This record gives sequence, structure tokens and C-alpha cells, in this order.
Amino acid sequence: MQFLLHYSLHFLYPLFVAYVFYKTNWKKTYGILIATMLVDIDHLLATPIFDAHRCSIGFHALHSFYVIPIYILLLFLPKNWSLIGLGLCMHMMTDAIDCMLMKGLA
Ligand SMILES: [Zn+2]
Repeated sequence: MQFLLHYSLHFLYPLFVAYVFYKTNWKKTYGILIATMLVDIDHLLATPIFDAHRCSIGFHALHSFYVIPIYILLLFLPKNWSLIGLGLCMHMMTDAIDCMLMKGLA
């Protein structure tokens, strides 16, 4: 169930946001939002690469508390940068929701 929520937030929610708020070019917007999934490349530096019981936020390099403020700042830059920021912020929120569910906080 949590798995389903996680992947819908990663793939369906950006589709919803792109379609509702960027109707004229939702395909490009969705593409950019999905491309921010590349941030998970930092998992390759961890052993094991995938651990369902590990909280990504604050663990992986690109999910650390030092870089998340940068993602928030991107929101205020023009054009595609703000979309990249939006995708990254939605990604971090999705991962954070996961952590909260994992720890029984939500
Ligand atoms: Zn992630």
C-alpha cells in the first residue's frame, strides 16, 4: 500500500500538477518534473543501493538538509529552473512522507 502511494506521488501527482497548472505545455512540464527523478542517482553511492527501511531524506547526498534549501531557491528562478525546483521539492516531500509512514508519524 505504501509502495503504491510512493509511486503515485512520484509519477501521477506530477502529471496532475502539470496538467492542471500548466495546461498549454503540460507534456514538457511533466517531462521536466519526471526528469528530476534523476536526483535518486545518489542512491548508487549507498550500500545497499535500495533499502526499503531506510529514510532517504538526510541520508543520501542529494537528499541532504544542505541541498534541500537549494531546491527551494530554484522555485524562485525563472522558467525551467523553477520547474526543476518544483519537481525536486515534490520529490523530497514524497520521500519525507515515506519516512514519516516508516516511523509511524503519519
Ligand atoms: Zn528520492
